[in-house]
Amino acid sequence: MKLLKFSVLTLLVLALFSCSSDDDDTETVANSLVSIAENNPQTDGFDFPVDQGEMTGWKEPPVAVDENDANFDPSSYLAQRSDGIHAAIDFYKEDGSDAGGTALWSIGAGIVIDIVYDRVEYPNLHDGSDRDVGWGNLILIQYDYLENGVNNRVYGQYAHCKTIEVVLNQTVARNEIIGTIGGTDGKVGSEFDNHLHFELRTTNLKADAWPQSMGLTTVAAVSEHYAHPLDFIRAHRP
Ligand SMILES: [Zn+2]
Repeated sequence: MKLLKFSVLTLLVLALFSCSSDDDDTETVANSLVSIAENNPQTDGFDFPVDQGEMTGWKEPPVAVDENDANFDPSSYLAQRSDGIHAAIDFYKEDGSDAGGTALWSIGAGIVIDIVYDRVEYPNLHDGSDRDVGWGNLILIQYDYLENGVNNRVYGQYAHCKTIEVVLNQTVARNEIIGTIGGTDGKVGSEFDNHLHFELRTTNLKADAWPQSMGLTTVAAVSEHYAHPLDFIRAHRP
């Protein structure tokens, strides 16, 4: 009887296990990684992704991230929104003018390690997947830099771009134009107000990785893989 119970239990556990391993759609950090480029030259510092590497004329969102806070702004880093934690800064013009079509600058010298083409803007380059949904055109650049004698890496994600002016595996210089700012969303185009959604990751996540989809639902969990873009850049100016 005891043995029989054990067997039934074992079968149940095996059945449950096989169910969960059949579920390949579950996103995790581990299955959301993109290949790192080896021997990528180190950048000599970092600039901002707008206005030729400066922030002049661009709005810096308030730090309030809780929607109960009077200063809550969904474009802030770590803003707690209905779709999860926003691990980005959204760049808008300070005077409220349209940011669409303005140049997008690489924050450092690096290499393009992932690109997603929007199905509306680039029907011939779009890969047929849903990676562009909610994102539109995406560029992911790996940046190597020296800190305390050690090679570190960060990964810049530039989202909702209007145009992409780099190709996969291309090396870029600090302050090189890589595209333009837009509001693409991977469905009908320009669903969003034109802005740059910019993330700075410390993990080599694929371009379209989104914290909540990978189960990162707390500030602590998100902070293991992302950095505050403006704080990081300010601490690493050339
Ligand atoms: Zn955003």
